[in-house]
Amino acid sequence: MICGRIKARLVSGAVVFLLGETGFKVRIDILTLFPQIFSGPFLSGIFQRAVNNGLVSVNIHNIRDYTHDKHHIVDDYPYGGGAGMVLKPEPIFEAVAQIKETLKPEEGAGPPPVILLTPQGRPFCQQVAQELSGHSHLIIICGHYEGFDERVRQYLATDEISIGDYVLSGGEPAAMVIVDAVVRLLPGVLGSEASSRDDSHAAGLLEYPQYTRPAVYRGWPVPEVLLSGNHAQIAKWRRQQAIRRTLERRPELLDKAQLSPEERQLVSRLKEDGTC
Ligand code: SAM
Repeated sequence: MICGRIKARLVSGAVVFLLGETGFKVRIDILTLFPQIFSGPFLSGIFQRAVNNGLVSVNIHNIRDYTHDKHHIVDDYPYGGGAGMVLKPEPIFEAVAQIKETLKPEEGAGPPPVILLTPQGRPFCQQVAQELSGHSHLIIICGHYEGFDERVRQYLATDEISIGDYVLSGGEPAAMVIVDAVVRLLPGVLGSEASSRDDSHAAGLLEYPQYTRPAVYRGWPVPEVLLSGNHAQIAKWRRQQAIRRTLERRPELLDKAQLSPEERQLVSRLKEDGTC
């Protein structure tokens, strides 16, 4: 059941679930066959705060609402035969066209990216999230069944994104992953900009270990430097831990990470020591 601040309204003949009403800075339109899936995840935590503070607005569109036949058919058999059904192009093209018609021309803003979710797309990662967070509007299309008629990919989508090398039954979980990762990067969404700056993958490294109270739990102490109050030492320790952890778990990330010559030496030393 969609509830809370989500309002249902009619835009160009389609029911749109709208989160956040006025003054939002980033607008995200999601096309789906299952709008109800989105009712929970966008109504809690950081996301809801972002909506309430007018930083983001999410519109969920039911692709079926853009059909014109009695049974609201959105799929059909694949030409050439084969298993499963394929999403028809007409309602998807129509939905995107109607969404674009509702846009107010913004100075300097080009047409919004139209993102097709597909396991064949470019891999989603923090850099892609950062890139998408620079747009004031995103249109995201969730597939289902065997996916889309190829003409959606060829003539409508401007981007294709995969959230990993596995196949989901629908694009909705992928849309949630992408929207979450993008929204937390928007200015003002997290309490402190530093939180996302230090996150794993933000600067090509995994994050350093974090501790909170108590200082000793079951005899396991928090590293002393963190209790020292010496901010320079703490920053140095964290940076070294982030490098060490990345080397242990995802050594391939270090090839692209921006490291100082001293930090490169640290990596060599850790490798030689065999401590990682
Ligand atoms: N037959 C398609 C193929 O092999 O490329 C897969 C279709 S999949 C069962 C149905 C829908 O789920 C896709 O159209 C896409 O929107 C979504 N989907 C599945 N896996 C995904 C992934 N790894 N990343 C993003 N979307 C995915």
